[in-house]
Amino acid sequence: MRLADRYSNLQPSGMIKIFQAVEKMDGVLNLGIGEPDFDTEHDIVDAAAAAGKEGFTHYPPLPGFPDVRDAVCAYWKRHHGLDVRADEVLMTAGGIQSPYLAMQALLNRGDEVMLIEPYFTPYAGQVDSCGAVAVRIETSEESGFAPTAPDLEKAITPRTRILLLNSPCNPTGRVVSRERMEEIAAIVKKHDLFVLSDEIYESLVHKGAHVCFATLPGMKERTITLAGMSKSHCMTGWRVGYAIGPVELIRVMTVISANQTFGLNTLAQKASGYALANHDAKLIERRDIFASRMNYVADRLNKMKNVTCAAAEGAFYLFPNIKGTGLKSEDFVWKLLENSRVAAIPGSAFGLSGEGYLRIACTRSMDILIQAMDRMEDFCGKL
Ligand code: PMP
Repeated sequence: MRLADRYSNLQPSGMIKIFQAVEKMDGVLNLGIGEPDFDTEHDIVDAAAAAGKEGFTHYPPLPGFPDVRDAVCAYWKRHHGLDVRADEVLMTAGGIQSPYLAMQALLNRGDEVMLIEPYFTPYAGQVDSCGAVAVRIETSEESGFAPTAPDLEKAITPRTRILLLNSPCNPTGRVVSRERMEEIAAIVKKHDLFVLSDEIYESLVHKGAHVCFATLPGMKERTITLAGMSKSHCMTGWRVGYAIGPVELIRVMTVISANQTFGLNTLAQKASGYALANHDAKLIERRDIFASRMNYVADRLNKMKNVTCAAAEGAFYLFPNIKGTGLKSEDFVWKLLENSRVAAIPGSAFGLSGEGYLRIACTRSMDILIQAMDRMEDFCGKL
């Protein structure tokens, strides 16, 4: 088979390698899974079925149904104070399609995109696919894995176009404070940048408050807010995301998406509109469940030999520091899997700044988390 040159040397990511190994092993407690363990609530499933029976089985409007986009606007106004209209919203195939479309719409060959390490890895491939250049900004645990103004200033060149932000963050679970966001906004304005703000974990903030970047003064016209139904409403399998941004950009993204997906699954959209309007109480319930799991796991990690872990802040991820063990992230993770049958993701899979850390997803029941922490404590004690 003669594949395109750019795909001829494709290798599985650090995360995929772990999942492939887990599939071949018995009795693994997998703390690598980046999706809620809760099924979609049945009334949301019923809303999809009802829409189907009402005849919503045809092609949808390309940017999404107006009532569903209205539900997105109402949700963001209610939860985050963002004032937007339906023509500023595009429904996308999962949260993952939004940054892809935005980058395709905004970037010329050779333009630079600032990625904050450690970062959600698909971003890098999306930057590459535009012929643009990913400029990785290293961050540290001391700064909460958020960029400081000097970190950004140092990396900015005349080709810098986009800054990609992700708070709450996958993989670190850290939440960027309002103060730091304001500092970042000042740099964005000064250097005339555009921001892709991935806020897919907006409903899962356990410490402090979520700051919707587009609500900061002067940022709305420079920001596209990316989010979706996967994490907030436990709808990963429905593949519904959305982008909120300036009308002209949304229009171009819609045209690009027409060449790819030609609109987003009709039933999944209708179910999402229903979920956005009716499930606020459930969001709080689940946020609190994740917070109590994370608090428990962080506490256990901090009692382990040579491990430290910052307090839970957001999403469902913890990012413990294992530098004291003297092992690299990859070595630690593979040894933990082979010796103790606990799976985590090496921090280094998310960029250099993740070396010396693990990503632990608290997306399993408390029972499983307790067992996994017992095994990991034992493992660390013997290192
Ligand atoms: N952004 C981040 C930071 C994520 O963690 C994920 C999912 N893991 C996505 C985007 C994509 O979400 P979706 O599953 O809706 O495509």
